[in-house]
Amino acid sequence: MKIAGFYDESISNGLGWRAVLFVSGCPHHCPGCHNQEAQDFNYGSEFNKQEILDRIKENSILKGITISGGEPLCKENIPEVLDFIKDVKKIRPEFNVWCYSGYTLEQLLGRNDEVTNKCLDEIDVLVDGQFVQSKKDPTLKFKGSSNQRIIDLKPTLKTHKFIEYKL
Ligand code: SF4
Repeated sequence: MKIAGFYDESISNGLGWRAVLFVSGCPHHCPGCHNQEAQDFNYGSEFNKQEILDRIKENSILKGITISGGEPLCKENIPEVLDFIKDVKKIRPEFNVWCYSGYTLEQLLGRNDEVTNKCLDEIDVLVDGQFVQSKKDPTLKFKGSSNQRIIDLKPTLKTHKFIEYKL
Protein backbone atom coordinates (compact mmCIF):
# COMPACT_ATOMS: atom_id res chain seq x y z
CA MET A 1 0.00 0.00 0.00
CA LYS A 2 1.10 3.54 -0.67
CA ILE A 3 0.19 6.57 1.38
CA ALA A 4 -0.56 10.09 0.25
CA GLY A 5 0.41 11.57 3.60
CA PHE A 6 0.49 11.41 7.38
CA TYR A 7 -0.25 14.14 9.93
CA ASP A 8 1.27 13.68 13.37
CA GLU A 9 -1.37 15.98 14.89
CA SER A 10 -4.59 17.41 13.47
CA ILE A 11 -7.87 18.76 14.85
CA SER A 12 -9.70 18.97 11.53
CA ASN A 13 -10.05 15.26 10.67
CA GLY A 14 -12.25 14.16 13.54
CA LEU A 15 -12.92 15.18 17.11
CA GLY A 16 -9.91 16.01 19.29
CA TRP A 17 -6.22 15.84 18.49
CA ARG A 18 -5.63 12.99 16.09
CA ALA A 19 -2.94 11.42 13.98
CA VAL A 20 -4.19 11.12 10.38
CA LEU A 21 -3.16 8.59 7.75
CA PHE A 22 -4.12 9.25 4.12
CA VAL A 23 -3.91 6.07 2.08
CA SER A 24 -3.46 6.17 -1.69
CA GLY A 25 -5.93 4.77 -4.17
CA CYS A 26 -9.64 5.31 -4.56
CA PRO A 27 -12.08 3.71 -7.01
CA HIS A 28 -14.87 6.29 -6.56
CA HIS A 29 -13.62 9.26 -8.63
CA CYS A 30 -16.12 11.72 -7.13
CA PRO A 31 -16.33 14.95 -9.14
CA GLY A 32 -14.83 17.75 -7.02
CA CYS A 33 -12.75 15.31 -4.94
CA HIS A 34 -10.73 17.19 -2.30
CA ASN A 35 -7.72 14.92 -2.74
CA GLN A 36 -7.62 14.00 -6.41
CA GLU A 37 -3.99 12.87 -6.57
CA ALA A 38 -4.71 10.31 -3.84
CA GLN A 39 -7.12 8.50 -6.21
CA ASP A 40 -4.04 6.94 -7.82
CA PHE A 41 -2.95 3.71 -6.08
CA ASN A 42 0.67 4.50 -7.01
CA TYR A 43 0.67 8.05 -5.66
CA GLY A 44 2.83 9.01 -2.69
CA SER A 45 5.26 6.96 -0.67
CA GLU A 46 5.46 3.36 0.49
CA PHE A 47 3.55 2.76 3.74
CA ASN A 48 6.15 2.33 6.47
CA LYS A 49 3.96 1.00 9.26
CA GLN A 50 6.65 0.82 11.93
CA GLU A 51 7.80 4.38 11.38
CA ILE A 52 4.26 5.67 11.79
CA LEU A 53 3.64 3.54 14.87
CA ASP A 54 6.81 4.98 16.39
CA ARG A 55 5.57 8.52 15.71
CA ILE A 56 2.22 7.79 17.36
CA LYS A 57 3.55 5.88 20.33
CA GLU A 58 4.89 8.66 22.53
CA ASN A 59 2.63 11.52 21.46
CA SER A 60 0.59 12.25 24.58
CA ILE A 61 -1.53 14.99 22.95
CA LEU A 62 -3.27 12.47 20.70
CA LYS A 63 -6.75 11.12 21.45
CA GLY A 64 -7.05 8.92 18.41
CA ILE A 65 -6.27 8.10 14.83
CA THR A 66 -8.14 8.89 11.63
CA ILE A 67 -7.75 6.83 8.48
CA SER A 68 -8.63 8.77 5.34
CA GLY A 69 -7.58 8.81 1.73
CA GLY A 70 -8.02 7.87 -0.94
CA GLU A 71 -10.23 4.96 0.05
CA PRO A 72 -9.13 3.00 3.14
CA LEU A 73 -11.82 0.34 2.78
CA CYS A 74 -11.44 -0.72 -0.87
CA LYS A 75 -10.35 -4.33 -1.39
CA GLU A 76 -6.79 -3.27 -2.25
CA ASN A 77 -6.23 -1.28 0.96
CA ILE A 78 -8.42 -2.83 3.61
CA PRO A 79 -6.15 -5.74 4.68
CA GLU A 80 -3.27 -3.39 5.50
CA VAL A 81 -5.59 -0.84 7.07
CA LEU A 82 -7.01 -3.52 9.38
CA ASP A 83 -3.52 -4.71 10.32
CA PHE A 84 -2.44 -1.12 11.02
CA ILE A 85 -5.45 -0.31 13.23
CA LYS A 86 -4.84 -3.47 15.26
CA ASP A 87 -1.20 -2.48 15.80
CA VAL A 88 -2.17 1.07 16.76
CA LYS A 89 -4.52 -0.33 19.40
CA LYS A 90 -1.73 -2.49 20.81
CA ILE A 91 0.41 0.57 21.55
CA ARG A 92 -2.44 3.04 22.25
CA PRO A 93 -5.42 1.02 23.52
CA GLU A 94 -7.23 4.20 24.62
CA PHE A 95 -7.33 5.61 21.06
CA ASN A 96 -10.58 5.98 19.23
CA VAL A 97 -10.54 5.28 15.51
CA TRP A 98 -12.24 7.38 12.84
CA CYS A 99 -12.37 6.23 9.24
CA TYR A 100 -13.51 8.05 6.11
CA SER A 101 -14.92 5.91 3.32
CA GLY A 102 -16.63 6.62 0.01
CA TYR A 103 -18.64 3.43 0.54
CA THR A 104 -21.81 3.59 2.58
CA LEU A 105 -22.09 1.39 5.64
CA GLU A 106 -24.80 -0.61 3.86
CA GLN A 107 -22.44 -1.28 0.93
CA LEU A 108 -19.68 -2.37 3.30
CA LEU A 109 -21.96 -4.73 5.24
CA GLY A 110 -23.38 -6.03 1.96
CA ARG A 111 -19.99 -7.39 0.98
CA ASN A 112 -20.36 -10.15 3.59
CA ASP A 113 -16.62 -10.22 3.74
CA GLU A 114 -14.62 -11.27 6.79
CA VAL A 115 -11.86 -8.67 6.47
CA THR A 116 -14.38 -5.86 5.99
CA ASN A 117 -16.42 -6.99 9.02
CA LYS A 118 -13.29 -7.26 11.18
CA CYS A 119 -12.22 -3.80 10.11
CA LEU A 120 -15.64 -2.32 10.91
CA ASP A 121 -15.38 -3.90 14.37
CA GLU A 122 -12.20 -1.89 15.00
CA ILE A 123 -13.67 1.46 13.93
CA ASP A 124 -15.46 3.79 16.36
CA VAL A 125 -16.63 6.48 13.94
CA LEU A 126 -17.28 5.92 10.24
CA VAL A 127 -17.80 8.93 7.98
CA ASP A 128 -19.46 7.25 5.03
CA GLY A 129 -20.49 7.95 1.47
CA GLN A 130 -18.99 9.59 -1.57
CA PHE A 131 -18.46 13.32 -1.80
CA VAL A 132 -21.38 14.79 -3.79
CA GLN A 133 -20.62 18.21 -5.23
CA SER A 134 -24.26 19.35 -5.40
CA LYS A 135 -24.52 18.60 -1.68
CA LYS A 136 -21.28 20.32 -0.73
CA ASP A 137 -21.61 22.45 2.39
CA PRO A 138 -18.53 24.11 3.86
CA THR A 139 -20.32 24.70 7.17
CA LEU A 140 -20.52 20.96 7.86
CA LYS A 141 -18.13 19.69 10.49
CA PHE A 142 -15.78 16.84 9.55
CA LYS A 143 -17.52 16.04 6.26
CA GLY A 144 -17.73 17.60 2.82
CA SER A 145 -21.29 17.01 1.63
CA SER A 146 -24.62 16.60 3.39
CA ASN A 147 -25.23 13.03 2.15
CA GLN A 148 -22.29 11.81 4.23
CA ARG A 149 -22.99 10.50 7.73
CA ILE A 150 -20.87 10.57 10.85
CA ILE A 151 -21.78 7.20 12.28
CA ASP A 152 -21.31 6.06 15.85
CA LEU A 153 -20.38 2.66 14.56
CA LYS A 154 -20.36 0.36 17.59
CA PRO A 155 -23.96 1.07 18.72
CA THR A 156 -25.07 1.19 15.09
CA LEU A 157 -23.71 -2.30 14.42
CA LYS A 158 -25.20 -3.57 17.66
CA THR A 159 -28.71 -2.22 17.15
CA HIS A 160 -28.77 -2.33 13.32
CA LYS A 161 -30.05 1.25 13.42
CA PHE A 162 -28.11 4.30 12.23
CA ILE A 163 -26.85 6.23 15.25
CA GLU A 164 -25.18 9.54 14.54
CA TYR A 165 -21.97 10.28 16.40
CA LYS A 166 -22.51 13.20 18.81
CA LEU A 167 -19.91 15.88 18.20
S1 SF4 B 1 -14.21 8.93 -2.03
FE1 SF4 B 1 -12.99 10.65 -1.27
S2 SF4 B 1 -10.91 10.32 -2.08
FE2 SF4 B 1 -12.32 9.00 -3.25
S3 SF4 B 1 -12.83 10.22 -5.08
FE3 SF4 B 1 -14.45 10.57 -3.54
S4 SF4 B 1 -13.80 12.42 -2.42
FE4 SF4 B 1 -12.01 11.62 -3.54
